[in-house]
Amino acid sequence: MTKLSCTVLILLSMSITSTYFGQNKKMKNKNVVIDTRMTLEEALTGLKIPPKIREQLTLIDVKYYGFDEKIHSGELVVNKKVEKNIESIFMKLLSIKFPIEKVIPISKYNWDDEKSMLDNNTSAFNYRFIKGTKRLSKHSYGLAIDINPLLNPYIKINSIEPEGAVYNPKIPGTITAESQVVKIFKSYGWSWGGDWRKGKDYQHFEFDITNK
Ligand SMILES: [Zn+2]
Repeated sequence: MTKLSCTVLILLSMSITSTYFGQNKKMKNKNVVIDTRMTLEEALTGLKIPPKIREQLTLIDVKYYGFDEKIHSGELVVNKKVEKNIESIFMKLLSIKFPIEKVIPISKYNWDDEKSMLDNNTSAFNYRFIKGTKRLSKHSYGLAIDINPLLNPYIKINSIEPEGAVYNPKIPGTITAESQVVKIFKSYGWSWGGDWRKGKDYQHFEFDITNK
């Protein structure tokens, strides 16, 4: 074989290999349903956030199992301190095929928690007070996450959030004390709102960095 034909052959095989792998990658991506593709800037737009908090935040991609039995890709704004933690938790949720409706940064809902909850949207960061108080919620630091909030409402003595939600443990995507979801979060040191004595916040998980 001449040197030239040998080079041509190598180049040809390289191009075939890269085309093959390229296509393979494309096919894999084609099967993933994309919720959003925001930048951190877009995910934080429209809200006044103190710079000290803003610099702690990051935007991460998470893969999850959808109600349509397909793999979805969503985005979460979380505190950098729990980035790896949340990525690992979502990988485990995907492996047990726990269904999640959607995962979109709450800026898409103009920072309206009620709207996001009614849309059954899973989200983490939102700069807001705990309802009825002047205390900042853990969501304000990106250290809390609400999962399938329409299926897992916040039930207090006289109210339910979001309004009109129904908590039915038989429906897939609903979280109970026996759920694997709760066990997974707890194994990473997160606490669950379903354990609260006054009011049960079934959608809510939070991480306390002061204790770790
Ligand atoms: Zn919450």
